[in-house]
Amino acid sequence: MIKENLEKIKQNLPPEVKLVAVSKTKPNELLMEAYEAGQRIFGENRVPELTQKHEDLPKDIEWHMIGHLQRNKVKYIAPFVSLIHGVDSFRLLKEINKEAKKNNRIQNVLLQFHIAQESTKFGFDLTEAKEMIQSEDFQELENINYLGVMGMATFTENQDQVRKEFKSLKGIFDQLKTDFFSDHADFKEISMGMSGDYKIAIEEGSTMVRVGSSIFGSRN
Ligand SMILES: *Cc1c(COP(=O)(O)O)cnc(C)c1O
Repeated sequence: MIKENLEKIKQNLPPEVKLVAVSKTKPNELLMEAYEAGQRIFGENRVPELTQKHEDLPKDIEWHMIGHLQRNKVKYIAPFVSLIHGVDSFRLLKEINKEAKKNNRIQNVLLQFHIAQESTKFGFDLTEAKEMIQSEDFQELENINYLGVMGMATFTENQDQVRKEFKSLKGIFDQLKTDFFSDHADFKEISMGMSGDYKIAIEEGSTMVRVGSSIFGSRN
């Protein structure tokens, strides 16, 4: 089933859009099914689960941390994580930079933006992010590589609402690109879209979708 699910989803994705298979709560056997079908990018949202799966599974998997990340947990994933999607504060960024330095790595990150109406979702607003990017302290973070932005739409049936929120993230990306990252070629990713809304996300400019239940089945 997983192989077929992956194939179905990929048919809906333009070739340049990356698929992050969100495997949180799922056992290694199911991840291996996806792996054997050719999937190499997996997303997890909890640090202990991510580090355990990294230990257990093939080493050519690209692990993405997609959930909220606490500063005191950064050290556990810093040696290996490919991309941290949920950077939502300068303090977290500073900690990631420190741990990346210790591990002699340049850490790829996305800046998370709060685009949903729900107050429970994390992320910067544009003003906040611009202030941060212009600060001197920000310039000193030498072990961070900015790949783009990430956001989560409101959990709602209202597709117009979801579309509006994805549009707003695209707008934020475009502004940051123009104002601060125009000569930084790596800054090109917009991580948006999950099982329920990735088709809208792609129409609105997503370059990276994070799909879980449509690949692995629903979670408890
Ligand atoms: C769980 C999760 C997803 C995947 O959600 P599905 O609806 O199962 O596709 C995507 N992004 C984040 C941040 C998540 O926590």
